[in-house]
Amino acid sequence: MGLRTRFAPSPTGFLHLGSAFSALFAFRLAQKSGGDFILRIEDIDGSRCRSRFEEAIFQDLMWLGLEWETPVRRQSEHLTDYTLALQTLKDRDLIYPCFCSRSDIAAEIRRAGVAPHRQNSGIYPGTCKRLSSSEKKEKIDSGAPAAWRLDIHKALEQTGPLYWHDRQLGKVRVALEQHGDVVVERRDIRTSYHLSVTLDDHIQEISLITRGEDLIPATSIHVLLQSLLGLETPEYFHHRLVTNDLGVRLAKRNDGQNIRSLKEAGFSPDAILKMIEFD
Ligand code: GLU
Repeated sequence: MGLRTRFAPSPTGFLHLGSAFSALFAFRLAQKSGGDFILRIEDIDGSRCRSRFEEAIFQDLMWLGLEWETPVRRQSEHLTDYTLALQTLKDRDLIYPCFCSRSDIAAEIRRAGVAPHRQNSGIYPGTCKRLSSSEKKEKIDSGAPAAWRLDIHKALEQTGPLYWHDRQLGKVRVALEQHGDVVVERRDIRTSYHLSVTLDDHIQEISLITRGEDLIPATSIHVLLQSLLGLETPEYFHHRLVTNDLGVRLAKRNDGQNIRSLKEAGFSPDAILKMIEFD
């Protein structure tokens, strides 16, 4: 059976060489297997996403020769899916409200005496996990804004050790030490990247998730969420990141390297594929 792969950009800027590589990587694998390639717009963070960037992403991908299934799923149009999944995690007491601001968290970490340079020093210290039910209720009733965090310890107790299969790395064990209790419902947008991406990959029946190797740590969280929500774990393929001549990773920040400006400077789609060693 053919693969179903996807490219899931957030429309916060123009498509750059790194993301063009990622899109082509997924597209070619689907094409080779006689399967389908899906484009998904990850626009839950309305304060950073712009429709002009979404339009530009469509145009630039088309110009590079990609085709995808329509209609395109936009996360902002499916918030109920995320709310329902969060409710099941709340009902099972696997997530808890967190009222801490960034500065509260930093202060708590300092109080605990963790040197700021120590690895993992940014992990949430669990302040709100220790609130009693009445303290929690009081805060909620007072209207204090809350994010919801996954109780990693409790979650892993339920699931036991977890693994995923990666075409590049083989069998990988889910490792959550470096994350701590991650936020699965942000206080501003009532969902999160981790939750939305996990649900959408399931809903869209993606069989091979391809993305940059910078997202390997995030996959541990997604596999845990899959297990908690009773979703199948697809196969993964974390690919190399595109770097410039100096070995620096190309991201949206490197404006000169976006597809739009390269096109305007006279580069052809073939020249761009060569640039990212995709010919
Ligand atoms: N919207 C995410 C990004 O642009 C997608 C990451 C993923 O492929 O899971 O980084």
